[in-house]
Amino acid sequence: MSARELEGKVALVTGGSRGIGRAIAEALADGGAKVAVVARDGERAKAAAAALPGSGHAGFACDVSDPKQVNATLEAVEASVGPVDILVNNAGITRDNLLMRMKDEEFDEVIAANLKGAFNFTRAVTRGMMKRRDGSILNITSVVGLIGNAGQANYAASKAGLVGMTKSVARELASRNVRCNAIAPGFITTDMTGELNEKQVEELKGRIPLGDLGTPADVASAARFLVGPDARYITGQVLAVDGGMVM
Ligand code: NAP
Repeated sequence: MSARELEGKVALVTGGSRGIGRAIAEALADGGAKVAVVARDGERAKAAAAALPGSGHAGFACDVSDPKQVNATLEAVEASVGPVDILVNNAGITRDNLLMRMKDEEFDEVIAANLKGAFNFTRAVTRGMMKRRDGSILNITSVVGLIGNAGQANYAASKAGLVGMTKSVARELASRNVRCNAIAPGFITTDMTGELNEKQVEELKGRIPLGDLGTPADVASAARFLVGPDARYITGQVLAVDGGMVM
């Protein structure tokens, strides 16, 4: 991997203000890309963009589940940062509950943010990428979308949906040189996993062949590779970054 292999590229990272998305934004900026950081909390998105290495980055307030906000945000990004070459659909939420107790809103909110949100941004960037015959889309799914998890029927469904969408988009856009891949992280230390207690963390470690939780940087280095020129012949793939938990 060359030191600045993403020089001249514009990347949009949803949920880039915290956790895995923030680490991905840093890795892409480190590779030379200008990065648009998108999150519902616009102040946090702007602060995260301002802290990235290099210049030309910007933060935007947008709820990915709302197609109107998504289209308006893409317009604003293209006007101030530039046409988007790299899209990372990373924004995601959990609303865990046992199936029998799961409320309609808990199911719908998770599908709207995790699955429809990725669809909204993918649809929005497609025209430009197809026209330019160049583009790379990365969806952040989860190992839970591959193997399921008790208490996460909504989340697992949204993440499994992303796997199907990744492969369909890869097939549909390949002839225009637009690639689409996914990363399925295992357990990564972020706000999302911050609620786990010590006993749960120890139990988890026992299920991970490499013996530890991952860091956002572990996901970010795989993301930088998959969206960049060294992965030019890779599309439609789901890469687990999980310490060997799912194989
Ligand atoms: P996190 O720390 O909770 O951060 C989530 C990010 O997404 C924040 O920037 C948040 O900003 C943004 N976001 C949430 N809902 C949004 C919406 N509707 N519109 C726009 N932005 C939204 O989460 P994380 O742990 O880094 O997870 C990132 C991704 O990796 C998620 O898709 C998650 O499902 C996936 N993942 C995580 C793990 C893990 O162990 N942590 C494992 C597998 C997969 P605002 O709140 O300001 O909107």
